[in-house]
Amino acid sequence: MAWAKIDTVCIVCGREFVHQVKKYSRRDADSWQEWAANQEWTCPECYQTQREAERQAERQAANEAAAAKAEEQQLPQLQGSEKQVSWAMTIRQRMIDEITRQYMGISTEIDADNPVWREQTILKAVDKTGKDRAEVEQLLDNSLLKVECVRLAWAKLHNEISAKWFIDNRETAGYTLWELVKKSRKPSK
Ligand SMILES: [Zn+2]
Repeated sequence: MAWAKIDTVCIVCGREFVHQVKKYSRRDADSWQEWAANQEWTCPECYQTQREAERQAERQAANEAAAAKAEEQQLPQLQGSEKQVSWAMTIRQRMIDEITRQYMGISTEIDADNPVWREQTILKAVDKTGKDRAEVEQLLDNSLLKVECVRLAWAKLHNEISAKWFIDNRETAGYTLWELVKKSRKPSK
């Protein structure tokens, strides 16, 4: 290991600083120094400032895109501080995009409250899988519960107006989101 070092001037603030990197050998270090002497460098502080500005711009762009989409989908105006609302709109859009993919996967033929549909579905599944009826009923109820949770989650994301709710639940996605909705669901009679 060998240190390669050059004295250089920051192209942004004009401050002199030492730029140093570790190289495998003295030879590598020497050739890096020769190359580096003819390059333009930014000091660590200016580099940090630039990166922060870039990240800020990315966040801003994401927030603006989310605001535009919200208007397009006629989503309700969120409530909270300006900063919370702007962040929450981005989170909401990400969550809606995800739940929409799951929502699209739900068959429109599901008619859970219709006993005729239920009976036919069970009979068909028993016939197709050879499983016994109790097991098929259990499986059907599990998948109907999932479908219901996706539907409820979809509605929740489209109706919730608290920016804080989106921020608090920003790590929640997919199955965890259904679980969350399931928990908040009123107990059935
Ligand atoms: Zn600088």
